[in-house]
Amino acid sequence: MNSSILAPVMLAGTSLLGVALVVTSRIVRNIPVNRREWQLLRGFVVLFILGYLAYAYSLWREVPIAGDALITSVFFFGACFVLIVSIMSQRSITALNRMIVLERNVITDHLMGIYNRRFLDRQLDKEFARSRRYGSPLSLLLLDIDRFKEINDQCGHQVGDAVLREVAEQIRSTVRESDYVGRFGGEEYLIILTETKGPEAARLAEKLRRRFEAAILLPALYCPTEKDIKRTVSIGVTSFDPKRHRRATDLIEAADAALYRAKHAGRNRIITSTEFHAQGKVVPVRAAR
Ligand code: GH3
Ligand code: MG
Ligand code: MG
Repeated sequence: MNSSILAPVMLAGTSLLGVALVVTSRIVRNIPVNRREWQLLRGFVVLFILGYLAYAYSLWREVPIAGDALITSVFFFGACFVLIVSIMSQRSITALNRMIVLERNVITDHLMGIYNRRFLDRQLDKEFARSRRYGSPLSLLLLDIDRFKEINDQCGHQVGDAVLREVAEQIRSTVRESDYVGRFGGEEYLIILTETKGPEAARLAEKLRRRFEAAILLPALYCPTEKDIKRTVSIGVTSFDPKRHRRATDLIEAADAALYRAKHAGRNRIITSTEFHAQGKVVPVRAAR
């Protein structure tokens, strides 16, 4: 092929290597680990650039400088380069996987396998800001297991832990994928219902209440009392109202106040901030805020 065409192609390749040199230099400056290997890689890019320029010159002048030796070296360094890149890609994937596991651990309650309080607080702040700004509906359920302490006392803490996990699993399988279920503290669960209005949230709370009323959380063999382990739940429900809720914590307070009422009204019931549901009956009460 005509060498006057090949020389510009080599120069275009050299420009691409120039861009690669800028990118690897940035990586060398910013990367917290494996800096040596990246420096080595950058050295190879420089060698490539020199080799390409020399070859472009020889094509342009039509003088075979160093001839075969030059081409053979470029091929050899190319193989070294590909090897280093593949090893470093593999290392990067391992580091990335480790980071994903770490990130998941940072936001997960390890006992219950659902989100932890740190994540819930952060997510609620975000969802609250979104609702304030765009007026999108947002509701919260605060669920507490009724008379949970008895399980610890009668069957031991390990069994209590297993019950906490089972309750978390049952809540998770009842709500939508887009909702957030987390441990609020002790044996309380917070459920953030995005794009959900009050009546819909109350319906879901009632569905959960009925589910736990019927469910066997652990079979009899787990406890010396030799009875299936069953527990009802009490749930405080609240929905974002821009007139009453100025901060995300106002929503939590409202749900907490509703839960407190549910406990004092006899447990195994849901209470919303604005109305009172007791076993299907809906009795209006003062707003609980
Ligand atoms: P109520 O119906 O009023 O909610 O009664 P309760 O017994 O559920 O509530 P109380 O607040 O008296 O007891 C909650 C218990 O939850 C006390 C605590 O020992 C137990 N608990 C909190 N965190 C854990 C945990 O991680 N594992 C176990 N096994 N128990 C826990
Ligand atoms: Mg409780
Ligand atoms: Mg509690």
